Amino acid sequence: MHYSVFKVISQGLKGNKGWTRQWRDPEPRKEYDVVIIGAGGHGLATAYYLAKEFGIRNVAVLEKGWLGSGNIGRNTTIIRSNYLLPGNEPFYEFSMKLWEGLEQDFNYNAMVSQRGIINLYHNDGQQAAFLRRANAMRMAGADAVMLDQDALRKICPFLDFENARFPIKGGLMQPRGGTVRHDAVAWGYARGADSRGVDIVQNCEVTGFQITNGVCTGVETSRGPIKAKKVAVCVAGSSSRVMEKAGMRLPIESHVLQAFVSEGLKPIIPGVVTFGAGHFYVSQSDKGGLVFGGDLDGYNTYAQRGGLPVVEDVCEGGMAIMPMIGRARLLRSWGGIMDMSMDGSPFIDRTPVDGLYFNGGWCYGGFKATPASGFCFAHLIAKDEPHEVAAAYRLDRFRRGAMIDEKGMGAQPNLH
Ligand SMILES: Cc1cc2nc3c(=O)[nH]c(=O)nc-3n(C[C@H](O)[C@H](O)[C@H](O)COP(=O)(O)OP(=O)(O)OC[C@H]3O[C@@H](n4cnc5c(N)ncnc54)[C@H](O)[C@@H]3O)c2cc1C
Repeated sequence: MHYSVFKVISQGLKGNKGWTRQWRDPEPRKEYDVVIIGAGGHGLATAYYLAKEFGIRNVAVLEKGWLGSGNIGRNTTIIRSNYLLPGNEPFYEFSMKLWEGLEQDFNYNAMVSQRGIINLYHNDGQQAAFLRRANAMRMAGADAVMLDQDALRKICPFLDFENARFPIKGGLMQPRGGTVRHDAVAWGYARGADSRGVDIVQNCEVTGFQITNGVCTGVETSRGPIKAKKVAVCVAGSSSRVMEKAGMRLPIESHVLQAFVSEGLKPIIPGVVTFGAGHFYVSQSDKGGLVFGGDLDGYNTYAQRGGLPVVEDVCEGGMAIMPMIGRARLLRSWGGIMDMSMDGSPFIDRTPVDGLYFNGGWCYGGFKATPASGFCFAHLIAKDEPHEVAAAYRLDRFRRGAMIDEKGMGAQPNLH
């Protein structure tokens, strides 16, 4: 079914009785050309682009829970391409361009809202670093605007510019950054993949790999074995646990990251505001809730639930730059499992096992990467060659000393 405004009106007149299911609920077959593990954003986008761009439709996406139950439905919905390094910026800008055409492409309302993202700076050194980043962005075809304090005051008059510890001097703005309704992205990709013949199998946990003489020939699942010519892993926070079943140890640690939503307020925040020094970021949803987050809980875990010290820390960050947030009531909070790599950058690569491909290590940034990650992973699986914008995301980069350390912080996941 093609969605359009005419469809909405005609269905409204008919009592909304004619809508059909958005994707099927198929039984897994015994064999596929490609099996993708994980129906999060990246797994579903990979299936969609495999079918749409590379003509590979005999594909299954296997999901241990329900579609969208992982981080794709738990993130704070921010998209941006304000990166510095040549290994990263072209990839994220490619993703931004895909976001810009996504709703027309997969015929689904994902509420892509390019309201702008602002990174605050507090001193001359930070301003110079942001100016360098702005130039790197422009060279990769992205948009960047340096805001001085006066310009920032006009956009965000509510900020505490005279904060004693972090006086706000200005910001780096990317006007094309913004937010997207996260679960609609999963649904849109799922519907687009399903309509092209991809089987999305929920409640089907992958419990092992069939590997003979260094070649992966299928997977073991809670619903029986499934053969595949190629197996692609997209399980985000569960990466180390799943790849361990293939005998691989990854440069990834899992941590929990929390998100928060306040009660609904009148429109106040025009776009996304990021306070890097205090690790706090906030936007306002269409329903009026302030959607915000901060730092990781500092311990390794596979739990989708965080601790109270980080709740306090994040709220302190919010209070520091916009004290009026203290009067809002916190409505909801939740956690998601973050696959933190050692240099803060992801992997889209083949593995030492033939026919087994890996996508992970997305850290804080995996939602905005969803379209490009799916496209580039599909490219790698279809052609056995990396896409040019994802060529740096190799698993062996630590051995080669070719880390992509965006922040220049060092080889520890909690620093990125
Ligand atoms: C609180 C929070 C806020 C965030 N905010 C942002 C943000 O604002 N912007 C941004 O760019 N990124 C953000 N992120 C990061 C982003 O959400 C993730 O990097 C990204 O969603 C991960 O990719 P995914 O969507 O494929 O993961 P997921 O949705 O987690 O998908 C992985 C899937 O694999 C499944 N799975 C695991 N093991 C198995 C198995 N053995 N068999 C079958 N299936 C399995 C899981 O059930 C899950 O559904 C945030 C993350 C969190 C937790």
